[in-house]
Amino acid sequence: MENNIQEVLISQAQIEERVSQLARELSREYAGKNPVFVGVLKGVVMFFADMVKHITVPCQIDFMCISSYSGTESTGTAVVKKDVSVDLKGRHVVILEDIFDTGTSLDFTYRYLLSKEPASLKICTFLDKPSRRKPEITLKPDYVGYEIPNAFVVGYGLDYNEYYRNLPYIGILKPEVYENAE
Ligand code: 5GP
Ligand code: MG
Repeated sequence: MENNIQEVLISQAQIEERVSQLARELSREYAGKNPVFVGVLKGVVMFFADMVKHITVPCQIDFMCISSYSGTESTGTAVVKKDVSVDLKGRHVVILEDIFDTGTSLDFTYRYLLSKEPASLKICTFLDKPSRRKPEITLKPDYVGYEIPNAFVVGYGLDYNEYYRNLPYIGILKPEVYENAE
């Protein structure tokens, strides 16, 4: 499996350091606000668990699942496959995501959760690929772990055809892996 990794982009130690910094920032920001952290499955699992372990204020957690990638390209449309179960009306909600790429998925998730009338709604994404953003997407992430260049990455929850999610670091997948598969 690791033979298919071209380069380790973000090491396990770097991830741990950045995630605990982000969680400290969010803990300060959301003190006294009883926030709800909503994770978008499945890519966010590692980031989500690491983040909430470092959150020091009372909070609730929830998950949703929307239709996502098959292979390396987005289908452009999204559907809610699993909805949140906590009532978000009047709550301070933070969406946790693995990666902000073209922006299609997060834009959909953001508008969907906004319709539940939260008191506030912010976005915290572990990775951001601003160079890939579709021009019509004006949404901006409020908290970003790392900005990365335009490469297809795997690990730390991120997959290629459901594999590589268990790698403890972020790596760039060798392009021949997906080029040969198509
Ligand atoms: P967007 O809608 O912003 O284009 O895509 C967001 C989703 O696409 C992410 O939640 C993730 O599932 C997938 N995605 C985007 N870029 C990458 C990448 O570099 N690697 C992997 N594994 N998934 C990605
Ligand atoms: Mg995702």
